[in-house]
Amino acid sequence: MGKNKPKVATACMCGCSGCHMSFLDVDEFVKDLAELVEFQSSHVIMDIKDIGKVDIGILEGTITNDENVEVAKKMRENCDILVAWGDCACFGGIMTMRNFGQIDNILEECYVEKGDEDSVVPDDDLIPTLTKKAKSVDEVIKVDAYIPGCPPSAEIIRYGLEKLLEGEIPKLDKDKLRY
Ligand code: SF4
Repeated sequence: MGKNKPKVATACMCGCSGCHMSFLDVDEFVKDLAELVEFQSSHVIMDIKDIGKVDIGILEGTITNDENVEVAKKMRENCDILVAWGDCACFGGIMTMRNFGQIDNILEECYVEKGDEDSVVPDDDLIPTLTKKAKSVDEVIKVDAYIPGCPPSAEIIRYGLEKLLEGEIPKLDKDKLRY
């Protein structure tokens, strides 16, 4: 990382934003972090979603539609260190339950069977097209660091960010992964 403040971007794909919410629990570390890094984009921290060149790119959520693939690839192209943040990003998480069914049946059940009598499956131009399978981030792009948990605790997030800012890849042993 250069002499200037490292730049950080975060993005949410198919996730619940819980990992980002947990980040906000790092309390006063947010203030320290604001001194240490420059947030380039983040839908939660600054409501800027256009990912630019950064040192650290952090992705929350599963890759489950073509829009998520685009966000993941854009983050990969624009960052030096890419972090999978939370169980959805690291392992696929709860979204991968849909891998046991057929996409057409799932869309039908969600939009038609659970909707009212006029409900239809929306056209592809109204909702992003689902990928064949819901995937962890590293099934689509290279990941450099993993910070698991659902959500990762504020303590783990802080530890991970501190290590990354020291130029190290965080290693999370069993003690750090116990909740
Ligand atoms: S890992 Fe958990 S908290 Fe984070 S996006 Fe997935 S479901 Fe939400």
